[in-house]
Amino acid sequence: MASQHLIYKAKEAKIFSRRQNHFILTFERSKKVAGKRKNSLLTTVVTVIVAIVATVFGFNNGKPKEVNATDSVSQSNTQRQQSASTSTAKETLIYFLDVGQGDSELIRLKTGENILIDAGTKESEKELVSYIKELGVSKIDYLIATHPHADHIGGMAQVVKQFDIGKIYMPKIPDKQVPTTVTYEKLLTEIDKKGLKITAAKAGMTIFQNGTEKFEILAPVSTKYDGLNSYSVVTKLTCGGKKFLFTGDAETDSEKDMISKNCDVKSDVLKCGHHGSSTSTSTAFLKAVNPTTAVISCGVDNDYGHPNKKILNRLENANVKVYRTDSQNTILAKCDGSSINITENLKPVIKK
Ligand SMILES: [Zn+2]
Repeated sequence: MASQHLIYKAKEAKIFSRRQNHFILTFERSKKVAGKRKNSLLTTVVTVIVAIVATVFGFNNGKPKEVNATDSVSQSNTQRQQSASTSTAKETLIYFLDVGQGDSELIRLKTGENILIDAGTKESEKELVSYIKELGVSKIDYLIATHPHADHIGGMAQVVKQFDIGKIYMPKIPDKQVPTTVTYEKLLTEIDKKGLKITAAKAGMTIFQNGTEKFEILAPVSTKYDGLNSYSVVTKLTCGGKKFLFTGDAETDSEKDMISKNCDVKSDVLKCGHHGSSTSTSTAFLKAVNPTTAVISCGVDNDYGHPNKKILNRLENANVKVYRTDSQNTILAKCDGSSINITENLKPVIKK
């Protein structure tokens, strides 16, 4: 979705510009904002005391955090076993959630951990939270905001609020391009409230490697792009011998950078960039990824004409089987490491 669809709050631009460097611990940022808004010595003193207390109890020796993480993982495992009709721990489950004109993918790892890539729009935030909870998820261990557009992060503040959250990854965007939108602000505020921090996503990072499952960041390769879309965090999930590529809204310039840096983009399943728009899934990139299956996340009769007919033809000519959330609702890929089994027409997140 183009940035003009986001609400611009000019009067708060100064506050936001101070927030550019948001890759800091929450209480540090909260302290600055509170200090500015109230400009009161008392407030500053209280905030510093709170920060000290938070430091002592939250970060001292890490023991309380470890206990919580273990509890959540074992709880999540139990829940997965209880819902054996839809999943077993022998398979990795990848849900391409039907959030209408937006993006959201939920990955349930064999370990019981969960990854959420994007969270659709604000309009479906409640439905998204309920949907994920109904699947038995109580903790999002890895939360990826591919880029700060409303069709990707619109529902993310609610997700942060409603779930136990592990690590959060976002692209680092140059100050002058950081959006000053209510949607983005709400997300940062919610992250602040929970005392979470954001990790800047960069090409070459491995988020985790666990047995046969691995999760890596392939983009953004560069620190400077013309549009926000190309800062999209591109991730690759490896499940044994099978690979899934999630490209957010990365456009051709990012695709070119991944290829020129010799990123190993080759994957069995490609979540097409930018909802199947002509700005993405270039011929060269498609050739490099060489998928057997592609998934396009887009809304029914959307205003943008997504997916682009040229891209659909390109995929067809490359013998790629295409799944679309607008016509096939939520799509689930189950991977046991050697084969991928795809189910379409699962319940959509949005009302249709
Ligand atoms: Zn988008």
